[in-house]
Amino acid sequence: MADPASPICCPTVAAIRAVAAPWREAGERLALVPTMGALHEGHLSLVRQARAQADRVVVSIFVNPAQFAPNEDFSSYPRQLQRDLDLLETVGVDAVFTPDAAVMYPAGFATTISLQGPAAAGLEDASRPIFFNGVATVVAKLLIQVAPDLAIFGEKDFQQLAVIKQLVLDLDLPVLVQGGPTMREADGLAMSSRNVYLSETERALAHLLFTSMQKIKAGMAGAGTVASLIEAAVAELEQAGFRIDYLVLRDAVTLGQWQGQSAGRLLVAAWLGKTRLIDNLAIDGRGLPGHSKE
Ligand code: AMP
Repeated sequence: MADPASPICCPTVAAIRAVAAPWREAGERLALVPTMGALHEGHLSLVRQARAQADRVVVSIFVNPAQFAPNEDFSSYPRQLQRDLDLLETVGVDAVFTPDAAVMYPAGFATTISLQGPAAAGLEDASRPIFFNGVATVVAKLLIQVAPDLAIFGEKDFQQLAVIKQLVLDLDLPVLVQGGPTMREADGLAMSSRNVYLSETERALAHLLFTSMQKIKAGMAGAGTVASLIEAAVAELEQAGFRIDYLVLRDAVTLGQWQGQSAGRLLVAAWLGKTRLIDNLAIDGRGLPGHSKE
């Protein structure tokens, strides 16, 4: 059995399958945490969540070219494998799956997954049209390659989590998909591998994305209408220098129109300089004074 303090690095599908096979034969429960590396406390919290529920934890690290549009940051995305491996050692991971693009998309690769439902909610899909096809294709492959009992994804990427739940349901993949809460910096900014792109000035403003959603939530407990609260938040963010892709309140399950009394989710995506940030916040519809979808 491997020393849980030193993860086994598996660069190929054959290697990760060979490592996981005896675990499965021994009846051990296996959890997968997919990532693109440049790990931070948000990723590590998902690993701890996995550890608490599984005998074996695999983390995958793969910067997936299929989910980046040509004008996006694929080439500049932070890559720091050794640092990631050192961090994973501190939280107790059994294996790290580190395929490269040739392993994941060998010459002649010709299959993608076509999506509707939460993947067509008019949020990330509107700003990044190829994103979810790339995500769904790679996540389906990872779930088939590693064959975990449990896979954990962050609520930070809320629409992505909904897309993956739908994918697993529709394709009958035998895995439980679980969300993990968003880890934040002290000022409320959601941790993200992309936060390193922010200049010092931008970093000082970036928390406004979260605090503006908190303000909307607090306003909803009072007399403000959702539309007016969102309008005020957008104006405040634009005034601070953000360029908003969307700031909306949606149904937390379908990502469609929020129906007033159901669980809702505020979702925001905005640019600060050259950096695109996303975040979201739960809204409990129950007990709110007379809010409707308007
Ligand atoms: P990424 O490496 O950015 O693709 O993220 C890998 C996983 O970590 C995804 O499931 C993300 O939703 C999750 N994640 C990213 N940031 C956070 C965060 N701040 N808190 C919790 N999970 C996160």
